[in-house]
Amino acid sequence: MTLFSPNIDCVDLTLVVVAVERAVDRSPDGLTYALPPKLSELPEGARVEVPLGRGQTPTAGWIVRRLAANEDTGIDREKIKFVLGQDPSGVVLPGELVQFARWMSGYYACPIGMTLASILPAAVRKAIGRTERTLIDLPAELPDVSKLTSRQRKALGVLATIPRPIEIGDLAKAADYSSTEPLKRLIVSGHLLAVKKTAVEAGFIARAGNIAKAPVATAEQLAAITAISLDFGRFAQHLLFGVTGSGKTEVYIRLLEDCVKRGKRAILLVPEIALTPQTVGRISARLIDAKVAVLHSGLTEAQRNQQWTMLAEGGADVVVGARSAIFAPIPDDSLGLVIVDEEHEPGYKQDSAPRYHGRDASIRRAQLAKCPIVLGSATPSLESYLNATERKISALHRLSTRAPGLNTPKVTVVDFAAERKEIRDRGVHLIGPTLRASMAKTLDDGGQVLLLLNRRGYANYIACTDPRCEWMLTCSECDAGMVCHLDSAGAQRRSYVRCHHCLAEQLLPKACPDCGKGVTVFGLGTQRVEEELTRLFPSLIEGETMLRIDGDTMQTSAHFHSALERFGSGQVRVLMGTQMIAKGLDFPNVQLVGVISADTSLTMPDFRASERTFQLVSQVSGRAGRGEKAGRAIIQSFEPDAPAIRLAASHDFERFAALELADRKNFGLPPYRRLARLILRHTSETECADRSSALCEEIRSFSGVVEVRGPSVCPIARIAGKYRRHIELLADRAADISRVLAEARTRGLLKLGEELAVDVDPMSMV
Ligand SMILES: [Zn+2]
Ligand SMILES: [Zn+2]
Repeated sequence: MTLFSPNIDCVDLTLVVVAVERAVDRSPDGLTYALPPKLSELPEGARVEVPLGRGQTPTAGWIVRRLAANEDTGIDREKIKFVLGQDPSGVVLPGELVQFARWMSGYYACPIGMTLASILPAAVRKAIGRTERTLIDLPAELPDVSKLTSRQRKALGVLATIPRPIEIGDLAKAADYSSTEPLKRLIVSGHLLAVKKTAVEAGFIARAGNIAKAPVATAEQLAAITAISLDFGRFAQHLLFGVTGSGKTEVYIRLLEDCVKRGKRAILLVPEIALTPQTVGRISARLIDAKVAVLHSGLTEAQRNQQWTMLAEGGADVVVGARSAIFAPIPDDSLGLVIVDEEHEPGYKQDSAPRYHGRDASIRRAQLAKCPIVLGSATPSLESYLNATERKISALHRLSTRAPGLNTPKVTVVDFAAERKEIRDRGVHLIGPTLRASMAKTLDDGGQVLLLLNRRGYANYIACTDPRCEWMLTCSECDAGMVCHLDSAGAQRRSYVRCHHCLAEQLLPKACPDCGKGVTVFGLGTQRVEEELTRLFPSLIEGETMLRIDGDTMQTSAHFHSALERFGSGQVRVLMGTQMIAKGLDFPNVQLVGVISADTSLTMPDFRASERTFQLVSQVSGRAGRGEKAGRAIIQSFEPDAPAIRLAASHDFERFAALELADRKNFGLPPYRRLARLILRHTSETECADRSSALCEEIRSFSGVVEVRGPSVCPIARIAGKYRRHIELLADRAADISRVLAEARTRGLLKLGEELAVDVDPMSMV
């Protein structure tokens, strides 16, 4: 460890601000250190190790600022400690990314060191797959060659004419040597130069899809492309509002091609890449002349490091990835375009610190890079829609018709309460007569069916059979009910119950612990739908002609890919599952989409419940009718008149948005006002209550125009043994919330961790 040495003239030292990767949050930026002379050139964005605290504990951190030679730090120079060394990974983030992290740290109230740590994938930090190879090059000045043999001279001549540096074995081959020994002697004599080069070895990443030809663009597509292209080279926001099947991807592809032609690079974010293999396949199949990097959860660690390193070295033109691809290390001044597909997806929100929203962060990244950003959706978030309509800070481009050859699906809403009365026989009925008849007809016609139920498991209520006894099974660690699951063999007798919040499991109790009577299960779940399907349609065979797609059956993205392949081949006739099947799937033979219950998302304790329901119903209906045959969607609901369901069925986003926005305005909710949530958690209920009251009171003392609501008990009052309370901050302007959060940080009130989470612009309200 190099500590301060009085022999070095401290006036000449380069001082830097280092943000350590800890939840240290005193100073907004970081701590001041000196660079030892041999590291004096280390730039901003370099990952380093510094001594921290009295114990001088070596701690990882990032240089976030180099101080000017005469800059006054207000710190006694004699007390400044030295940076211990550069991180072995040798990582240096581009300046734009450091700037981006600084914004993110401020906006989402997360210490900058933690923010930077979350930007760097673990695979890169650990240098997984990195190897060092020795390659051969010619020296800058060739020593006397007169004493060399003619074969040795020939080897040098060959090397001069081929791409260098080269593997020693390859040079031996090119120069007709049977061994590399003679070449090694030339290295010793100085006639050849050995250079070390690091590379990341990783398996080949398949670029799905065959090379595809460009379809003829529609007039609406061309209008959007032309308008957006005019903004290349400057920051501008664009909302591409295109109904499902209208060809948004074609607009993205042409813009990406244009961006690459201009010598710039681009980022394309997709909600969860494992769920959108078709989009990624189509894009890489079309961008054949561009180098496309991918960053997603399906990569091995070595592949992730390889892709990241390629991006950092400027070796990729386009990066396609999930949320975190917004942190792609694209070299400074070369980012030319950012696109966020399905911008309304809640999955863009990160649920651990920094709790950023991929879409909102993308807008900021584009702003820093001075390039246009395109947000695309068939069901825009109300935030983006308001920005494009009332606020006019974003341009709006509509793709109002489906691509040539595609039909708009006919959507029928079924009043499920009325249908249930018609059913004579007892027993569970999740599939009503309308949906059942339509399924039978579709299967007879050779079509395929998609069925959505956004709830895993078999049944979500477990209670006593005696209605006078009020016993109901809840999780012992959470304030929530447990969900009944069948075991993998599908045997109901051996079913178990699981808590979807803390993942605790136990066997299904045989008797009511209160009165000793029997136990019954009721409610909805994908496993129950599966059971009913095999009963109603004996020709369907689970695992062969019918597949269930949910978090339980699709544990890796490989499972999902293979399920989609089997569906695409026509072998699987019915695909049933959770929202995993609602996104982006494009199969021409899907003639029927059924929504088992549109109410599951409507009843959530969340002000976005209606918006989510509208999105889900619209998106899943849009999976029908993507081929020559007309598509149909049947939506079962106990609330068929709810605007979210009715308007999704009539494909009327504008009217839905107008209604919902009016409500939000009335209640003073986003997107009209900005919201931040502080969630406090503690194993002791009184401690949780006391702490949240104290925090709330202190924040009120400096909140100014920001409205402080609470503290109140969270909708789920306890999870995994911890009681939960929250405080809500509301303001007309985001800057006011940022100011209050910054003040709270300066006062040391926001120590993020197990006991406190800060969620700015929250997407979940439980
Ligand atoms: Zn639980
Ligand atoms: Zn009972």
